[in-house]
Amino acid sequence: MPLTGSCMCGAITYSAEADEYISALCHCTDCQKWTGGAFTSNAVVPRSSFQVRGNPATYDAVGASGKINKHFFCPTCGSSLYTELEVMADMVCIKAGTLDNGKASLDGKVDVEFYVKDRVQYLGGCEGAKQEPRFG
Ligand SMILES: [Zn+2]
Ligand SMILES: [Zn+2]
Repeated sequence: MPLTGSCMCGAITYSAEADEYISALCHCTDCQKWTGGAFTSNAVVPRSSFQVRGNPATYDAVGASGKINKHFFCPTCGSSLYTELEVMADMVCIKAGTLDNGKASLDGKVDVEFYVKDRVQYLGGCEGAKQEPRFG
């Protein structure tokens, strides 16, 4: 079953024909600023499986690696939709809060947490998730 999702206003929708995905939380300060939340939750899928309808706006942030992290968002409602990282050229990081059908839950499983050094104090680590101080 494909993953599907949209922004808050519905102008942009997407789908991913991925049977499996990597579930990752990122606690970095760019993710905090971009979403206004304490962290991002991501369903990481192959770029080849990912299709978008509509025209998201983009913002390029330079990551700690010096490479570009391209942020895609809805220019109408502002929803943070997904990112494409130059350091991970064949994957898309879907922001899980935009997924349909309750998939924001990531099926209750978090594989890895990144930038736990920046995790807000009121959160603990997810049980069973690999804890990375930074990225990778
Ligand atoms: Zn929208
Ligand atoms: Zn991040």
